[in-house]
Amino acid sequence: MSVDLFMKLKEIESLSKMRASFVLQNQEHKARLSKLNDKRREAQEQTVKLRQDIGAATSRLAAVEARIRTASEQKQRLFDLGSDEKKIASFTTDLDNLEEQGLECLAEMELLERELSAANEFLRGLEKTITEISLEVDGDIAKVTSELQHLDLRHALLLDELPTEFRALLMKTSAKNLAHGPFTRVDAGSCFFCRYKISRTDESEIDMQKNLKTCPQCSRIFLPYGS
Ligand SMILES: [Zn+2]
Repeated sequence: MSVDLFMKLKEIESLSKMRASFVLQNQEHKARLSKLNDKRREAQEQTVKLRQDIGAATSRLAAVEARIRTASEQKQRLFDLGSDEKKIASFTTDLDNLEEQGLECLAEMELLERELSAANEFLRGLEKTITEISLEVDGDIAKVTSELQHLDLRHALLLDELPTEFRALLMKTSAKNLAHGPFTRVDAGSCFFCRYKISRTDESEIDMQKNLKTCPQCSRIFLPYGS
């Protein structure tokens, strides 16, 4: 066998690693946008809630104003009828309380309106950011996707160029997802990774004849000397 085949094995393996990293990059790009979309949803929910609160405060104010009108009319009637001062004074107290409630409603509405205006401004800023980031992310994803396509083509080509036994062994070994990859070397008469002792005959077959062999213990593929 030739060293060239082992070089191809190594390249296929490194392309697979690159592929995984590209896939991860695309996931990260998408996650970036998805986080911003979550934020936008929260901000939209916040404005909906503020509008509901403003609506509720407006209704409360209208009810208080109606009660003020009724109480004023009753007080005026009592006054016109020459009713006793004590009764009139109790209406005056009621009216004062109602005026107080009305002012509280107004203050609350003012506060809510300010919050709503701030929330809307935040939302507008966020929309702008999302538009910008979307463009950026779309570009990044397109770039990575095109690189993935090139990589897959090269990967398929290399696999095609391998003899069947090389291809089958690489697939089988890669599928095990071994730490530090599917390859090893003979190092001082042993497997570099698991230190399994390799016979002189095996060592010569691996390094001199460039035969395809795996470590009997850790099952990694031996790369011959020079590859
Ligand atoms: Zn080993």
